[in-house]
Formats: sequence, C-alpha cells, structure tokens
Amino acid sequence: MVSRRNFLEKLTISTVGLPLICSTSNLFAATTIPSKGETLRVAIMGLGSYATRVAEAMEVCKRAKIVGLISGTPSKLVAWSAKYGIPEKNCYNYENFDAIKNNPDIDAVYIITPNGLHKDQTIRVAKAGKHVICEKPMAVNAVEGKEMVDACKAAGVKLLIGYRMHFEPKTLKVVNMRKNGEFGKIMFFQGQSGFRIGDPTQWRLNKELAGGGSMMDIGIYSINGARYMVGEEPIWVTAQETKTDPVKFKEGVDETIQFQMGFPSGAVASCLSTYAVGHLDRFFLDGIDGFAEMQPSTGYGPIMGRTHEGELIAEHVAHQTVQMDEMAAIILDGKEPMIPVNGEEGLKDMKIIDAIYKAVEIDNRVTL
Ligand code: NAD
Repeated sequence: MVSRRNFLEKLTISTVGLPLICSTSNLFAATTIPSKGETLRVAIMGLGSYATRVAEAMEVCKRAKIVGLISGTPSKLVAWSAKYGIPEKNCYNYENFDAIKNNPDIDAVYIITPNGLHKDQTIRVAKAGKHVICEKPMAVNAVEGKEMVDACKAAGVKLLIGYRMHFEPKTLKVVNMRKNGEFGKIMFFQGQSGFRIGDPTQWRLNKELAGGGSMMDIGIYSINGARYMVGEEPIWVTAQETKTDPVKFKEGVDETIQFQMGFPSGAVASCLSTYAVGHLDRFFLDGIDGFAEMQPSTGYGPIMGRTHEGELIAEHVAHQTVQMDEMAAIILDGKEPMIPVNGEEGLKDMKIIDAIYKAVEIDNRVTL
C-alpha cells in the first residue's frame, strides 16, 4: 500500500495516460456510473469556488450526475473523489484530459476555470468528442467565442453556456409576461450588476486570465439580462469607463463601465457594471402598460421581484440544480429552452462586450 504522500507525489508528476493513479491506491471512491441515456454524466473541469457550488447543487439533480473530475491539484481530486464517489479512472489533470475521448462513462465536460482558458479547453473537449458546458463569459472576445462554436459544430457536440438565470422561474415569469404583451411596448431596461472585488492578486484582475474586468465577470449579466428581458438584440452601444483605483484595476481591467444599448423597436437600456460597490444586483423593465423590478436579479437567490400586478412568486430551487437538469434535457432529449443557452447565445454577449470596450476606447457609439 502506498502512503498518501507518495500517492499525491505520483499523481502530481503523472502527466500521461490513464489511470492517473497507482492501482494499489484506495484513496479514490468506488461508484456506480449511470448508463448512457437517462442521466447526463458530467466531468467537472476546474475545482474552484463556483465548481464547488455547482457540485453541491448537482447532488439533488434528477438527470445530471458528476462522474468525472479534471484538476491540476491532486489533493482536490482526492477530496472530491471521496465526496462525490468518483472512480480514479475518471480523474484527469490539465495535461492528460484529452484522453477523456476513450472514456465511455463521460458525456459532457463542465468547464469552470478562468475565462482566458475557456477557448482552448472547449476545443480540446470538443475534439475528445464530449459535449461542452462552459461557464460565462464563454471566452474573452467574440473571435474566440466563434472558434469555440465552430469547433463544437465540427466535432458534432453541443456547446452550452452556464447561463443559470435562463432557467430561473421568476425570471421566466417576467419573460413570459413580456412575451404575452402584459407590459405593452417595451421602452426601457435598467441593469445594475456589481460587487466590490477583494484580493488584488486574483485571476479576475489579471487581463490575460479574465479578458477584462467587471464587464466580463458581472456586467455580462446586465447585457444578457437586457436581451432576454427586452426580447431583442441591441443595434448600438455607447459606454463610459470610470476608474478610481488604477493600481488594482490595471490597463485592460475595467473597474466600472456605464453602458447604454439601443434596440430595433426604439427601446433603450441603461446599465452599470462595476467591481467598486458593495452590492449591486437589480433589473428594471418598463413598458407602456406595466413594469417588472427584480432585486436581487441575478444572484444565487432567492430572486425577489414585483411587477405592476404584484409580487413575483415562485419556488426557489438552487439555480445550478435546475440548470443542470435542464441542460441534461437539452443534450439528451434535444429540448429547446425558452431562453437559449447555446454557444451562439454566448457569442452574442461576447460581440456586445467587444462593442462596449470599443465604445469606451473611441468614446463614441458603436453599431452592432
Ligand atoms: P475560482 O478561482 O474559484 O476557480 C477557478 C478554478 O480554476 C480553480 O480551481 C483553479 O485552480 C483552476 N485553474 C486552472 N487553471 C488555472 C489558472 N491558470 N489560473 C487560475 N486558476 C486556474 O473561480 P470561479 O469563481 O470558480 O470562476 C470560474 C469560472 O466560473 C469563471 O469563468 C467565472 O466567470 C465563472 N463563474 C460563474 C458563475 C455563475 O453564476 N454562472 C459564478 C462564479 C463564477
């Protein structure tokens, strides 16, 4: 029997082939992998803070199950394996995960790593023939996003983006009301998305890994929300950047951006994306005949809100539980969600983010 320390050393230096682990190790769990078909069998890539939340929420999923892990940290593989009952043959690191191609237990890989890594990781997973679920923002710009969409198409696998709000019941109620004309002609959307970011050394403040600043991380919720609340695609943007701390928010890492979007119907959106305030999470949709107000609007919930007809009421279930069960239905049954979560949907947001950065740079309106 190898000691835990020897085992971890072996795992650290293991860069090729599978399994990663010496067969005498009993540190990994034995488990029963569901057979192909009813359950979406998911490998999680990147075992950080959001992956932890996703994994816990998936424990009560009806149709999605974690059956594999991809991490550069051997001790995390051991701990997660024990917690979620993942066999050692389904554990990979960032060097060898292409071998997932030969693993019949795994249907899809959920990429939950820093934004700047999403493109290459998505392309590798697609080439391995597995469906991809990738966290938002799908990439760091639209060129990368398009490469990801193309790679998944070429490989014949689905690409879904982790837009959990697209399955959130109160959000869907408001979208349904708008679709039914209950707000009348939509005139205005306001989206405010932000929080105060801490540790200046984290990857979210590193241009290469984050692709930008608050816009990539939290401002994207106001962009995406404006699109599903208004129900149109913007045709122009304007934007203004404010930076109070140029040391923490270096070149290319935005602290605060105010931006405006214009829609074909004449509706306009006025939004704020920031890393500089304590808490900002509010949507307001206004039409000729009614309104919807949500605060919090995109946090982990419960989402709270009201319309001109009264309080929004719906049961709160962890967003990631609903998301993963719905994504299982999309991948396994071809279900069409009310608000898309595919790669093209992610790409629309990337194009708008590119345009917002451009509008800041040229200090003028950018046509989409
Ligand atoms: P995190 O820092 O907590 O986790 C990132 C993970 O990636 C870590 O386990 C880290 O070890 C791993 N990693 C691999 N290569 C790395 C590298 N070169 N540099 C740094 N870390 C590396 O971050 P997070 O909050 O879990 O965010 C991960 C992704 O999930 C991001 O794209 C983020 O936008 C997204 N996210 C989405 C939501 C949501 O509600 N949908 C919420 C939070 C984060």
